[in-house]
Amino acid sequence: MSTFQAPKGTYDLTPPRSATFLAVREAISAPLRDSGYGYIETPGFENVELFARGVGESTDIVTKEMYTLTTKGGSQLALRPEGTASVLRAALEANLHKAGNLPVKLWYSGSYYRYERPQSGRYRHFSQVGAEAIGSEDPALDAELIILADQAYRSLGLRQFRILLNSLGDKECRPVYREALQTFLRDLDLDEETRRRIEINPLRVLDDKRADVQKQLTDAPKLRDYLCDACKAYHEEVRALITAAGVVFEDDEKLVRGLDYYTRTTFEFVHDGLGSQSAVGGGGRYDGLSEMIGGPELPSVGWALGVDRTVLALEAEGVELDLPATTSVYAVPLGEEARRVLFGVVTELRRAGIAADFAFGGRGLKGAMKSANRSGARYTLVAGERDLAEGVVQLKDMESGEQTAVPLAEAAAELAKRLG
Ligand code: AMP
Repeated sequence: MSTFQAPKGTYDLTPPRSATFLAVREAISAPLRDSGYGYIETPGFENVELFARGVGESTDIVTKEMYTLTTKGGSQLALRPEGTASVLRAALEANLHKAGNLPVKLWYSGSYYRYERPQSGRYRHFSQVGAEAIGSEDPALDAELIILADQAYRSLGLRQFRILLNSLGDKECRPVYREALQTFLRDLDLDEETRRRIEINPLRVLDDKRADVQKQLTDAPKLRDYLCDACKAYHEEVRALITAAGVVFEDDEKLVRGLDYYTRTTFEFVHDGLGSQSAVGGGGRYDGLSEMIGGPELPSVGWALGVDRTVLALEAEGVELDLPATTSVYAVPLGEEARRVLFGVVTELRRAGIAADFAFGGRGLKGAMKSANRSGARYTLVAGERDLAEGVVQLKDMESGEQTAVPLAEAAAELAKRLG
């Protein structure tokens, strides 16, 4: 293994592709910031307990995929595999729910870790932008989050994504369904592990991708037929609100998702250009999670969108983001004195808020101009001994190729004027 290789299942973000990741994070969070969501940041690791209790001890995420460690002090920690449990924990710790302003609306962005079998679109370290609305049971809140995710994807230019929507029922009706499903599943011809799953988390069996399992599930009892009146009415209202907003979705009664805490509304954004790892984002309501981790009753809803897969989706659709060049002016000094003088001009430009860069390392004109081109700068400033003797610098418009001599003292002001 080369010393320079990132760990298995991980990759680095390097320029220029890294700029797309930043732009995606920005685009996903922008609609949230405009809708009353405040920024929250939590540690990259938590006590293992939080995820065991929160995400669920029967989920793959907790049983197979969590990076756990024992500290020198003997604490059991886990690198966070998802964001919701941490954000809720942090909100409870800070008593945000007691400030009398429910729902508490929060957004976050960060790294998450799952020990998964790496493949395209599935990594051991990945990045999400998420939103949580804590402490309110209102179908408009579920609708708001779905609409904002749709808006985020559309603002990036994505079109080939679909929204899958389902209701998982609540603590009244889901247990009744769960039992009916278990009775049905116990009679099927299934392997040992799946049989165990029937007893721990039978809804997850519905999610089994194998064709022979799916065939046996055709006549499985449907959650839809078991939803209580309150859940039905709630779900209809969510559907009506997002329909009225012009957001197209598909009802998908098989959508159960991989985390135990979901109740009622669940949804997933899938992209058709991504192969097997097609989920670009997902979320739902988690009315019982606060109590599961030892907090008060706080019905909540949230989502997390995967940044890595969103970038892959953009690439699959051939969408090129319109990313403006980061450098506006590139300075090329020819000789020692010019180096000092132009370095001063670059500093002045930067202080005036103009993005400027400099040909470091005393390279020749040709190499330095190549760098100037690569930087995407609109203008280049070139100065040699003769220019300095005349008190000017050469200002080159990189688009038109036109070059003019500008008095040194006016260079910064002239550039500011031209760049508007
Ligand atoms: P989840 O927390 O499993 O609902 O995941 C939410 C989103 O995070 C998914 O739709 C993916 O876009 C992303 N995601 C989850 N796991 C991974 C992974 N192992 N690699 C890359 N992206 C992931």
